Amino acid sequence: MLGLPGQIAAVYQPVRLPRHALMQSNVPHLLLPATSGRSVCRACGRTIGRGELRFGECLPNPFGEGEMTLWFHPACAAFRRPEPFLQALGASGEAVPDREALERAARASLAHRRIPRIDGAERSPSGQARCRSCRNTIARGSWRIRLVLDEGGRFSSGGYVHLGCCGAYFESSDVLSPILHFSRGLDEADREELGRAYLI
Ligand SMILES: [Zn+2]
Ligand SMILES: [Zn+2]
Repeated sequence: MLGLPGQIAAVYQPVRLPRHALMQSNVPHLLLPATSGRSVCRACGRTIGRGELRFGECLPNPFGEGEMTLWFHPACAAFRRPEPFLQALGASGEAVPDREALERAARASLAHRRIPRIDGAERSPSGQARCRSCRNTIARGSWRIRLVLDEGGRFSSGGYVHLGCCGAYFESSDVLSPILHFSRGLDEADREELGRAYLI
């Protein structure tokens, strides 16, 4: 587990939705325990453990007939693929840990169209990249947010924004949770420093 629902819960207040009308859906997507330990999350690139709950997004197969399934950790899907994730969550009869926090995160991602682009933070290894928001270069060693472009459930690099440009770019003052969620390369000290820098 990534220890993420706790982070989400710390930021998002739980909301309980009525369950009626959610149980009889024809949603094609899946929210079920993984039957193997071999699937890899499309959003974070980590494997999904056997028995862990996983989200499967069913899409037309671009390479031929039939459908294909893209797998995600539930928290990764909530941030990255909020609409199909919410459909699956609503239709799922599974006991979903942190269901309310996941739903809240997905609704925030759905409400702000650029939040699903967040792929974590890092210190800029060079001074070359330009911020997608203010267009100025990002100084070497300063925090930058990685962006991804969503190509139908597949993700490619989409450039960077200054940490300080998050509010303007994402049109939200509440994006620390998805930033921390996808900052897989940072240790605890870095994460604390990032959290402090975000608040400035
Ligand atoms: Zn993941
Ligand atoms: Zn900027």
